[in-house]
Amino acid sequence: MHANQLTDDVLRSLSEVEADEPVVVSMWVNLDPSLFATAAARSTQFNSLLNDLAEQMRDGDLSHDAQEALKADRERIERFLTSEIDVSDAQSIAIYSAQALDFFQVIKLAEPMDPGVHVDLRPMLEPLLGHEDEGEWCVLLVTRDSGRIFRGGLTGIREIRDVHSDVKNQHQQGGWSQARFERSVNQEVEWHLEAVTDLLFRIYKRRPFDHLIIGANNQNLRGALSGETHSYLLERVRGWIDIDEGLASEDDVFAAARVVMDEHQANEERELLERFEAERATGGRAASNLKDVLEALVEQRVETLLVHEGAEAEGAKCVTCGWIGTAGHVNCPVDETHLDRVENIIEPAIQSAIQQSADVHLITTPQDPESEKAGPFDGPVAAVLRY
Ligand SMILES: [Zn+2]
Repeated sequence: MHANQLTDDVLRSLSEVEADEPVVVSMWVNLDPSLFATAAARSTQFNSLLNDLAEQMRDGDLSHDAQEALKADRERIERFLTSEIDVSDAQSIAIYSAQALDFFQVIKLAEPMDPGVHVDLRPMLEPLLGHEDEGEWCVLLVTRDSGRIFRGGLTGIREIRDVHSDVKNQHQQGGWSQARFERSVNQEVEWHLEAVTDLLFRIYKRRPFDHLIIGANNQNLRGALSGETHSYLLERVRGWIDIDEGLASEDDVFAAARVVMDEHQANEERELLERFEAERATGGRAASNLKDVLEALVEQRVETLLVHEGAEAEGAKCVTCGWIGTAGHVNCPVDETHLDRVENIIEPAIQSAIQQSADVHLITTPQDPESEKAGPFDGPVAAVLRY
């Protein structure tokens, strides 16, 4: 399993970082072993990222202080890439550096990302969306005499428990009548399932999970398990998988579980968009254009911010109070401060949503060029509102 260090808390702390000059470097390094297995291939990528950063520093029309600060960032990042980076357990790494703010953070990710670098007033967060992993999934594999429990999320799972019960083989028989023997075996299987589900419930109570997947390649076992399992656990079951428990490796189990996870994600997105559509149709709790979305963010009314992947739009921001709005505004409507022009207002919008604990949902569905409509909504962003 690959390391994943991106949690909601990490995103929230990144969303707090902001400078008054463009001195925050965001860099994404791809470590996908199918492309960058050798030190030479990685070094080519690292050099090209560092050159790209130098170019942005040259072309950036920056103050002397900002130049000096970014020079220190480039050196800090170069030191990390040449002597500190650990390429063994991550598929990609996000680096955020702002020496001017005494800030340097490295985040290992479990999925590959396109390499890139960007200098701005704040960390660029959009590329990280969808990479969060809080370990909210649990997978239980069970046979008539064993059980294995895994924890993880969309980027991987890890086996945490492995239990065996002493259950007689159905075919061995020593002097018992057949009926009595079968009763005794069934009783043992029942005790085993009870023990496994008790263990699962203890794990749940210690560190709750949101979603459960059960693997049992035996129909009778499924029925018995439903009878034994606590309702708290049953209501979290998102799917059943068919898998050879005894032989399955962590990767096999993840591949089977991932199908259920993807299906669940797709359902959640569909429900979210249906809710947005219903609210919009009735003029309810929805904002469907950039101006309304930014207004709702300023008023802290956003429940879920919807962002089209790669969305960009010009805007304006107030350095005094943080007000954000569409391009064209000159002075802050709150405090009259002259507004800063923002090349891409989507990043401050994401930042603001994360800070007010709204969900941020990235729409990655490829757009149909044949279709009249650009997607579930027309603009770069939309929102479901709290009120
Ligand atoms: Zn203001």
